[in-house]
Amino acid sequence: MHTVVETYCTGCGLCVPVCPVDCIVMEPVSGQATGWSAWSQGQADEARVRYESRLSRLAQSERARTLHHTQELETKLINLAAHSRITDTDELARKQSVVATALAKAKARSSGQP
Ligand code: SF4
Repeated sequence: MHTVVETYCTGCGLCVPVCPVDCIVMEPVSGQATGWSAWSQGQADEARVRYESRLSRLAQSERARTLHHTQELETKLINLAAHSRITDTDELARKQSVVATALAKAKARSSGQP
């Protein structure tokens, strides 16, 4: 369950159409002021800090996910021959090559390369 934290709400309205129980109602709180004129510099600064914190959390989450994926591929590559039912050595080599390529891509991604 999600909760609108009114003190941090910017009034963007993005939550309204996606609310599954249609329980969010936008209320005018800034009089006639809209957009940036409805914000104080302090509110804008606080929102920027929160936004940058969110970006940082997302980046950290992505790094952790990529690291986990890389470790999974390394384990898979090491154990592929032992855990595979493939008896054809050419097919096994092809499969190892596919996993090695995926591993190289994951390592490149985790090091910031495209
Ligand atoms: S999505 Fe926008 S309107 Fe909804 S709670 Fe968050 S900041 Fe407020």
